[in-house]
Amino acid sequence: MNMKKLLTIALMVVVPLAAHAKLNIVTTTPDLAAIAREIGGDGVEVQSLARPTEDAHFVQPRPSYIVALNRADALIEGGAGLEDAWLGPLVDSARNAKLLPNAVGRIKSAQNVALLEVPTVLDRALGDVHALGNPHFLTDPLNAKIAAQQICKAFCRLEPSSCEQFRENLESFSMRLDAKLVEWRKLLAPFAGSRIAAYHNTWPYFARRFGLRVDLFLEPKPGIPPSPAHLARVIAEMKEQNVRVILVEPHQNRRTAERVARETGATVLDVAQYPGGVKGTEDGYIELMDYLARSLANALGKNATP
Ligand SMILES: [Zn+2]
Repeated sequence: MNMKKLLTIALMVVVPLAAHAKLNIVTTTPDLAAIAREIGGDGVEVQSLARPTEDAHFVQPRPSYIVALNRADALIEGGAGLEDAWLGPLVDSARNAKLLPNAVGRIKSAQNVALLEVPTVLDRALGDVHALGNPHFLTDPLNAKIAAQQICKAFCRLEPSSCEQFRENLESFSMRLDAKLVEWRKLLAPFAGSRIAAYHNTWPYFARRFGLRVDLFLEPKPGIPPSPAHLARVIAEMKEQNVRVILVEPHQNRRTAERVARETGATVLDVAQYPGGVKGTEDGYIELMDYLARSLANALGKNATP
C-alpha cells in the first residue's frame, strides 16, 4: 500500500471522529444526567457528580469532581438552591472558563420552571435547605420536559452541527413522557386527595401533578433531623388523618420511618428522586417515574380504607 492510500484511509477514520467529538457533560444530579443522555444521545458523554443514593443537598466534595469539572464542556445544575452548599467551591477550583456563571456551558435547568414554596423572605434559619423554594422540581414529569428543552437549547449552542439530532431526541423524549403521563395519571386517579407522609419535603411537584397530598414530614424542617417531640406530633396526625404510607429515600433514616410505621400501622415505601436510587430504575427518568407511580398506586391500593 502506498503512502497516499494509507493517508487517505487514516483520514477517513480520524476525520469523522474529530468532527463529531462528543460533548463532555457534567451534571450535579443523576436525574439531570438521565435527561441529558436522552437529548444528547451519541453526541454526549455524561457524568453526574451526586450518586443516585446520595442526599444531593449535601454532596461530599471529591478531588475527582474537580477534574471532571475542569474537563467539562458544560455543567447542568438544577439551579434552584439544591446544590448551594457544595457546587460553588468545586466549580471555582475547576478553573474552567466554559462553566462561568453566564457562559453557554453553564446550564440551569430550573430557569423556566415555576418553583413551589418560594418564601417571601429569604430565611435559612434553623438550617432550612429550601431557602429559595422547593428545589425538587424534577419529580413532576412536565418540569422534566421544561428542563429537557433548556438542555436541548444549550446543546444546540454548544454543538450546532448536531442540533437537528438533539431536537429530534427532545421530540421523542417529550412524546414518550406525554404518553406515559396519561398512564401514570390513570394509575393514581383512584387515590386523588390521599394524604401521604414523607421523610423529607421532596414531593410537592409530584403530588400536585397527580392530585395527591404529600404534606406530613418526619423532618421538622428540610435538612433538620427528626426530633422525638416532632415525631410524636406527626404520629398523632397520621393516626387522626388515617395516613397509611411513608415515603423514604435511600439516604434517609429508614429505621425512624419504620418506628413511625409501627406506631401508625402505615407502610414504609422505598422511593428515590434519582434513576438508580431504587432497584429497577437504572435505565432513566421515565423508568424512575414509572416505578414511583406504580409502587405508590400499589401501596395506596393495599392500604385503602375498606
Ligand atoms: Zn430538599
